Amino acid sequence: MISVISLDNLTKKYGDQPVVNHLSFSVEKGEIFGYLGPNGSGKTTTIKMLCGLVAPTEGTATVNGFDIIKHPDQIRMSIGYMSQQFSLYRALTASENLDFYAELYGLKGESARRRKQQVLEITGLEAYRNRQAVKLSGGWKQRLALACAIVHEPPIVFLDEPTAGIDPVARRALWDLLFTLATTGITFFVTTHYMDEAERCSSLGYIYQSNLIAFGRTDELRALPIVNNPDYSNFEVTCSKIMATFQYFRAQNYVRDVTIFGRTLHIIVPCNVTAEALYAQLAATDLNVLDIRPIRPSLEDVFVALTEREDELRNNSTVTAGRSGK
Ligand code: ADP
Repeated sequence: MISVISLDNLTKKYGDQPVVNHLSFSVEKGEIFGYLGPNGSGKTTTIKMLCGLVAPTEGTATVNGFDIIKHPDQIRMSIGYMSQQFSLYRALTASENLDFYAELYGLKGESARRRKQQVLEITGLEAYRNRQAVKLSGGWKQRLALACAIVHEPPIVFLDEPTAGIDPVARRALWDLLFTLATTGITFFVTTHYMDEAERCSSLGYIYQSNLIAFGRTDELRALPIVNNPDYSNFEVTCSKIMATFQYFRAQNYVRDVTIFGRTLHIIVPCNVTAEALYAQLAATDLNVLDIRPIRPSLEDVFVALTEREDELRNNSTVTAGRSGK
């Protein structure tokens, strides 16, 4: 395993306030690393430091072998960065936008032309090459933004909420494209709020109020003791009267937690409560429960549990900063 991004106590303060607090973790080559956390928790600031755009207050990091403090220029030339505000030139066509970025990164002549063609094909943009950016749909605009971010063949690409605001089909297509590119050895550092996207990442970091509170592969996170109390079991309940069933479970003393997930409920109950016992109990109501099955904790369960624990720790003023993800 080769670490291509490595943070060492990376910290950013604005005034006295840490916005990114002593982060230490590594991302391996070819990974799609998902970086999650609520708004304002420090994700963009972390990315800006790793891209050599914002200087850290303390600590450092290496990206693609370059130290972010000593060699920010080399980092900027060797990475791709698609920011939230990434603005394509609206009046230019897809092809002209690519020309612009190719030139910005010093590609010239035949090699620029060849690379542009390659990127148009990889991203499926060939059919839209002569369409103005402003006339592309949200999903295709994001593809073009990604195409511009990889035109100079960077080995590492940072994507800040690349799928915010685009439709589910376009979201899936963009992720399929990330997977295709990752198989060629590109490493992606991606922020997202979508749990289904988090599930697709090879590893994840979760930042909450400037601190990294979880780091690891998705299966490792799901196996954390905080969501695997041996005294309790998790069930998914499928039902037609979702709110009424939710209220029903909330009112039962033995139910430790109940959450709505789309058209299903997730409940946590003592391990001696079986699916059969739940069926029998619900049969005596008019709730029309269709299915009850044991499930593993979801990533959302993990993040909710960790966030609640963090809030408790803070309220008790015993929080320790600088947890390591190494
Ligand atoms: P996220 O990407 O997780 O939404 P950000 O990294 O954008 O979070 O912001 C983290 C916090 O840092 C926010 O409270 C934000 O207001 C603050 N912040 C970001 N940039 C600056 C800045 N240049 N000056 C002061 N505060 C900032």
